Amino acid sequence: MRHEFGTRELSDLCVRHSLRGRLDFDVGMAKKTSLKVGGAARVSFTPLNCPDLSDFLRASEPFNLPLMFVGLGSNLLVRDEGLSGITVFTHKALSELELQLDGQDSVIYAEAGVAAPKLARFSALHHFEGAEFLAGIPGTVGGALAMNAGCYGSETWDHVLKVKTIDKFGNLKIREKSEFYLSYREVTSKYDQSEFFVGGWFRFRRGSGDRSREKIKNLLARRVSEQPLDKPNCGSVFRNPPGYYAAQLIENCDLKGKTIGGAMISPKHANFIVNTGGASARDVELLMREVQSVVAERMGVDLYPEVKILGAKQSG
Ligand SMILES: Cc1cc2nc3c(=O)[nH]c(=O)nc-3n(C[C@H](O)[C@H](O)[C@H](O)COP(=O)(O)OP(=O)(O)OC[C@H]3O[C@@H](n4cnc5c(N)ncnc54)[C@H](O)[C@@H]3O)c2cc1C
Repeated sequence: MRHEFGTRELSDLCVRHSLRGRLDFDVGMAKKTSLKVGGAARVSFTPLNCPDLSDFLRASEPFNLPLMFVGLGSNLLVRDEGLSGITVFTHKALSELELQLDGQDSVIYAEAGVAAPKLARFSALHHFEGAEFLAGIPGTVGGALAMNAGCYGSETWDHVLKVKTIDKFGNLKIREKSEFYLSYREVTSKYDQSEFFVGGWFRFRRGSGDRSREKIKNLLARRVSEQPLDKPNCGSVFRNPPGYYAAQLIENCDLKGKTIGGAMISPKHANFIVNTGGASARDVELLMREVQSVVAERMGVDLYPEVKILGAKQSG
């Protein structure tokens, strides 16, 4: 495939700036998302580490391409047309995870590409409690920060002290928690909404590692019994409207098991759409629209997506 901005120039740039990360072209996003659908990311970069990412962004900035960060793709619906611009993959790239001293206390520093369940286990290993909810969230720390991911009464930002961000020029900044507007599955910077997360400092309460591991085990068992984890999915498709559970509204409209192409409303959990095999992103999006329209008509409630839909809008 030809790229009007020149794959050659971008490849040359990596050599010229001695970048050690991986530059790829046309990576299929079905391989990079938990729903297993979606077109290709035209240009993607997987940095070796944070300084490498900074160098890449600084060097590629003159191309003036849209920039997108992707973690484990567990909250993404990438359209079949794929992603233009540059996609930065953080998982297994920004992977620093360590205990740091903060005055008399210890905090955990986790980079954006660390898997959220790994942070939960690391926290238990160091005899903290409170991170257990992250064990069942199949995303990265960066994704959890961007989404304020949460469950069972806890949210990511409840435990954040400060974060490290990067802008499109590769500049790194430390930002305090107070510099963000935080709400249900939503995080907005008060100052610069074009920054991305490269890491965060987390504080959990001192406690028992054994108790934390036991809690993780129970939470994971609960998920297996409640969610269709045997089929590709993207977690909860819709946000819970104030005063309602999206799953209950969808179930009340008898939509469990409804299919469009290879996409199906899970018979196990009505707020999950599963890929039964060969679903396209278009199938999923059409099914989402159908659910929104039926729930609005029959229940009088508007549903809004929790899943992030990325890529050029398809016609029809
Ligand atoms: C089976 C299953 C269960 C789930 N359960 C839960 C749950 O209980 N609670 C919950 O909240 N979510 C849940 N999710 C959704 C998802 O796991 C979370 O939203 C997770 O935090 C997304 O992380 P990710 O790395 O996969 O992000 P991605 O899906 O890769 O990205 C999600 C969004 O975050 C942005 N993003 C990713 N990394 C960065 C970064 N470094 N800087 C800035 N923006 C970034 C992306 O651009 C995108 O907009 C579930 C998903 C699945 C598949």
